[in-house]
Amino acid sequence: MKNWKIHKDNDWLMLETGKSINGKVVITSSVHGDEITGVLLIKNLLADLKKLSTKLGVQISITPFVNLDGIKETLREDPVSKKDLNRCFFKRNPPKQVRKLKSLLSGASFVIDIHCFPHTKHALTGLLFTSESNKEISRINRNAVTAFNPDICWSLDFKDLDKEKKGSMGEWLVENDIPGIAIETDSPEFLNNEDVVDISKKIICTVEVALGKSISRNNNISSLKRFVVKAEQSGIFIPLVQPLQHISKDQKIGKLISFDLSKVNVSSSVSGRVVFSKVAKFVNKDEKLVGIGIK
Ligand SMILES: [Zn+2]
Repeated sequence: MKNWKIHKDNDWLMLETGKSINGKVVITSSVHGDEITGVLLIKNLLADLKKLSTKLGVQISITPFVNLDGIKETLREDPVSKKDLNRCFFKRNPPKQVRKLKSLLSGASFVIDIHCFPHTKHALTGLLFTSESNKEISRINRNAVTAFNPDICWSLDFKDLDKEKKGSMGEWLVENDIPGIAIETDSPEFLNNEDVVDISKKIICTVEVALGKSISRNNNISSLKRFVVKAEQSGIFIPLVQPLQHISKDQKIGKLISFDLSKVNVSSSVSGRVVFSKVAKFVNKDEKLVGIGIK
């Protein structure tokens, strides 16, 4: 933690380094308490981020444990407010973590928000926080994602978001003209040392590209729209597909077994690539089962 200013209270840790001569970069992790890969990455990146801050003349602020109470209970939501913090950015009285985050994010030149798909083998993914109507933000975000060089890249146009996704940090950043991307990574148990080093390098490179200090070399990543298959009824979900697998329309991708032992097949109404899948477990009706990236 050498050379980092530490701001700490009971449920909040913020690390800060450098002067904001050429702007401010904010890195956040674990807005969802069951997604802890960012903690591992940030720990690994501190020395390099310090160097980057000096090299680029930017201030770097990091909050590794946004939803600290959620982390302690392995919960996606904040256990105090019972809310998904990443749906509270437009609420009039959001939970305190969101209030703190918003003041930290204000005036940022670039934001990286680190998430993961827990308990599922998954390739690295960049998610665009973008709205095609804001051309400049779109351009920066696209370059940043390209520099991150994901296997699959989500693109979200906030105009067509369904209600449950409303209120995310990404949407708030777009509304406030702040460039930023989310990074979806694998769970720590699926990452070996090389993976961690590789993702860490990509994060550094992504910041440089986003701030216009370097040019992204790979420009042919196509972004996919998200399509989510939900449970038609509650029951035990058994997945039949793997992340990154190509699937065709109407393909059987899993089954649901209810407590009277009746079985319902789960199929996809679109063709595309599996980007996440629930592990075998009990699910409630309308719960998300499989995410599919479509062109
Ligand atoms: Zn998340």
